Amino acid sequence: MKLKTKLFLSYFVLILLSGISLFWLIIEIRQLTTSLRTHVSQDVRSIIAISRQLQSLEDLNAAYILLFIPGKSIDQKGAKLETTLDRFEKNWRQLKTAMLTPFPKAWYDRFFDRLYRFVYGWFDPLRVSPDEYGKEIRTLSERVESIWREIDTNMAKSLRYLRENRQADARYLRDARIKRELQKLRQLLADLNRQLGRRGIAKSTEMARIAQKSQWVIIAAAVLMVVLSIIVAFIVSKRLTRPIPALKDAVNKVAIQNFDIHIKEKSNDEIGELAQAFEQMSRRLKETEAYKSAMLSQFTHEMKSPLGSVKQATHLLETALGENASQEQKRFLAIIKGNNENLQKMITNILHSASYESGRVKLNYKPVEFVRLVKEVLIYLSPMIKGKNIDVRMQFSKEKITGEADEDKIKEVVQNLVSNAVKFSDKGTTIDISVREKFPLIIFDIRDRGIGIPAKEIPYVFERMYRAANAKTISVKGTGLGLYIVSQIVRAHGGKIDVQSREGQGTRFRLTLPRSKRIAEEGEWLQ
Ligand code: ATP
Ligand code: MG
Repeated sequence: MKLKTKLFLSYFVLILLSGISLFWLIIEIRQLTTSLRTHVSQDVRSIIAISRQLQSLEDLNAAYILLFIPGKSIDQKGAKLETTLDRFEKNWRQLKTAMLTPFPKAWYDRFFDRLYRFVYGWFDPLRVSPDEYGKEIRTLSERVESIWREIDTNMAKSLRYLRENRQADARYLRDARIKRELQKLRQLLADLNRQLGRRGIAKSTEMARIAQKSQWVIIAAAVLMVVLSIIVAFIVSKRLTRPIPALKDAVNKVAIQNFDIHIKEKSNDEIGELAQAFEQMSRRLKETEAYKSAMLSQFTHEMKSPLGSVKQATHLLETALGENASQEQKRFLAIIKGNNENLQKMITNILHSASYESGRVKLNYKPVEFVRLVKEVLIYLSPMIKGKNIDVRMQFSKEKITGEADEDKIKEVVQNLVSNAVKFSDKGTTIDISVREKFPLIIFDIRDRGIGIPAKEIPYVFERMYRAANAKTISVKGTGLGLYIVSQIVRAHGGKIDVQSREGQGTRFRLTLPRSKRIAEEGEWLQ
């Protein structure tokens, strides 16, 4: 998958999640406002209507009783009764609508209502909905209606009897039926009132629940969003950057000429492609490097014997000429000998470095006296030191510092370090060499006051064939193999080598060696 697509998808997931939580909040808030609007107004209307209904029932009762009290004419009393009957009827219709017809809801309110019930139905199936009261209210109102119809007919009948002067029939109807029916109706209306009250309470409780839940939903949605965002961001960044450390390690390895690169985690995006290309490149480099080494070894081997012959022939020529040699001939002989020696040294270096490649240094441990070792190196290098009129100052913590190491190889190390110090110093400067014992280690310091190494090149000086810019500017001869050989030998001894340098001021190499093979093998001191 392309990096672009991955990023797009992760943003999309985040936005989707926030969208879902927002939507959830909207559902809650809509539900709350709908409840408030519809239920409250319905309840208030019903409760007002029912008290009016009770009042008109009492009016009706009074008008009916008035019929039997002597006084005004029956027509007047009858008309009064009919108006109260009409008023009762009218009020009843209003009450019914208020109680039973649901408050009209907009389509989105109905949609959200259904969604809300669907979502919360799962969590809270046992909850009694305020709508449960609706059924009871409906049955009660049906009973009110049927009894009302009876009262209506019976009252009309009573009125007719009275008009026809059938007082006894009218009284009978009143006592046997209407009184009881009125009582019943009063009872039913009271029940209805009670039910409406209960439904009102249930609805307010419901609203309080929703309001409280909305608060929790807001908090939960916020927390959930934060947690989800953190998780998504973490996963995305981790997944995207996973191959990068491996790639960085690989680059570092190649920088120090280690071409054995295998990047395990290759993602299926551009970074993965880069890793693959990098692996391929290092494979090619390795092949080239191997080819170069082989060529070089072959070449140097081939060079060894002709150089030996040149040396021998020069020697023979020198003896043959003897004292007869002219000044010019002597100068030429010296040039041939010097260059021959340089070439031979170079070849030895190349062959050594090839045999030390990838840590294959075989050590021949034996007791060594390090002060003597340094002195011998200095004697060996004295022509070079004198040639530059350099003052070498030595310092030893003890007259004899003994230990165990491969003497020839450590000699090679010290020789390389001292010859570098001489090579990269001006004429007439000083070099300080110190050897001290710091149990269980032996520490060598070789400090010159030469040209120094440019800071950004310091990390690379131990690499094979690396020569810093300073070597090139003062055009000192060399192959760049000396410090590589040094580092390989030191590593094989379980020691370490550090360098501190400042351009124009000088360089200090510090070589730290474990005193014996056993200490080297334990390796604890390194920590
Ligand atoms: P070779 O040792 O093969 O003759 P070289 O001396 O150039 O060649 P190294 O000994 O490996 O190579 O050193 C690597 C580089 O480190 C040098 O080319 C030089 O740039 C830098 N260097 C090493 N020692 C010093 C020093 N004492 N002062 C300044 N630069 C140094
Ligand atoms: Mg060198």
